[in-house]
Amino acid sequence: MRRIYTAWSNTDGGEITGFSSGEDRPKANNGEPIWDCVFPVWRVEAGSHEEAMAIYNIRRGFGPYKPLGESAPCPECGAPYYPEGSAQCWNCDHEG
Ligand SMILES: [Zn+2]
Repeated sequence: MRRIYTAWSNTDGGEITGFSSGEDRPKANNGEPIWDCVFPVWRVEAGSHEEAMAIYNIRRGFGPYKPLGESAPCPECGAPYYPEGSAQCWNCDHEG
């Protein structure tokens, strides 16, 4: 399943200040948009949060992304996924 992730900045064309799932501004715990994530810088389509973070790290020059926990077979399709991380399967709709 393909999902959209967005990198954000607090100024038009500025440094990246956040990275979120979806195309809407990321929200804080109180439900309000995060103040310094105003302008979308770029978007990426990826199968899971882990795939998106791998691309994010490459684009930011951070080196390899290490997913949280160990991979395990998806309970629905058997593809490797990270149940201790996002628990999103890159191959099917399974989340959690
Ligand atoms: Zn799956």
